Amino acid sequence: MSAFKEFPIRWGMVIDIDKCTGCGACTVACNKENNIAPQPQQLERIAGKGFPTRFKKLEWLTVYELSNGVQGSGHDTAYLPRPCMQCGMPSCVSVCPATATDKNENGGIVSQIYPRCFGCRYCMASCPYHARVFNWDQPVYPDGMEKQLTPNVSVRSRGVVEKCNFCHHRWMYAKDAARVAGEDPNALPEDAYIPACAEACPTGAIYFGDVKNPEHKVYELIHSPYTFRLLERLGTDPQVYYMSKREWVRRQGDNYLENEAGPVAHGNGGLHG
Ligand code: SF4
Ligand code: SF4
Repeated sequence: MSAFKEFPIRWGMVIDIDKCTGCGACTVACNKENNIAPQPQQLERIAGKGFPTRFKKLEWLTVYELSNGVQGSGHDTAYLPRPCMQCGMPSCVSVCPATATDKNENGGIVSQIYPRCFGCRYCMASCPYHARVFNWDQPVYPDGMEKQLTPNVSVRSRGVVEKCNFCHHRWMYAKDAARVAGEDPNALPEDAYIPACAEACPTGAIYFGDVKNPEHKVYELIHSPYTFRLLERLGTDPQVYYMSKREWVRRQGDNYLENEAGPVAHGNGGLHG
């Protein structure tokens, strides 16, 4: 029996690191879709003018650059986009004193309920993936941008923590569309609900679907021998999976030490020790 709570649907993402070029289109699409205001003043005020510009923004999906650490001709790099993992055992949920974040009963998406959040940031401290961000200032949208905000996505205020929710509103749209069409909203076809990052990726590196549904591509992909999950040994049971044929990439995913036995490639999160 699984140690984790089981849901009829388990939305999951599989990111093929070997396809990712690090272009950042996924981050841009996410910011746009989720009404994340540009915040150039924010971290500069906190960290000073010399702070690297790539940190001077809020983002729910960060693309990290990985290196194999080899100098010269053997050098290799990879790019790892990191949304919220929608953990099966989310440490952020259990520490929240306001019940402002929760694991949804269906789909397994970890929600953030902004009106309840009072900004203690316990959830940020407990998240091993640094997937949460804090609004240090009131969001300010450049002139005209307010006309492009996504309806059904709340605008967050100063003092609130926010994070990726797999574009939950798109799931609600897809369910409504299915109802209107007289179809079962709980049996959506594969492409009916796709987060903005997966839709925007120009190389098709991000797959999305129900990992419990054999008709969805992600079901097949999570059983690949090249699939792994980040920091899997912590027991967080992420719903975001990664793929790479490069062993050094898979080893970095679960922080394997140089002399430690490597990850066993056996599929469905092949980094179990
Ligand atoms: S990745 Fe972090 S924020 Fe997301 S569910 Fe897991 S612990 Fe919570
Ligand atoms: S959009 Fe696709 S290729 Fe570009 S950084 Fe994101 S995952 Fe990688």
